Amino acid sequence: MDCIFCAIANGEITSNKVYEDEEILCFHDLEPQAPVHVLIIPKKHFESLEAVTESAEDKELLGHLMSKVHVITESLGLENGYRLVCNTGEDGNQTVKHLHFHLLGKRKMAWPPG
Ligand code: 5GP
Ligand code: ZN
Repeated sequence: MDCIFCAIANGEITSNKVYEDEEILCFHDLEPQAPVHVLIIPKKHFESLEAVTESAEDKELLGHLMSKVHVITESLGLENGYRLVCNTGEDGNQTVKHLHFHLLGKRKMAWPPG
């Protein structure tokens, strides 16, 4: 399977890493949309959030990912807040088909999003 984020997760393609453990990786986005813009991914390939199931394994992995958000935001100095976004599918404007969460910060975000 040809997946750019799998290639980043397994080290075939280099990335500017912020956090890494056995299950997840956080790295800087190539085209930042805010002063801080990183992506948080499970190393395991899911096409999108829609591919995550209620299995114990998936729940553990996604719970683990979410439990590390505060570790990442603290390391990036996002004490004033941030936005965590998961673009999903066609209407969500998802371009990379490997589940990822955008973490954006260090500027005031607009609502509603475009
Ligand atoms: P999506 O549009 O799928 O929600 O977000 C994909 C994100 O991945 C975009 O913000 C894009 O800039 C980023 N991106 C795409 N290819 C690469 C890459 O090779 N390296 C990094 N660091 N970011 C990438
Ligand atoms: Zn992948």
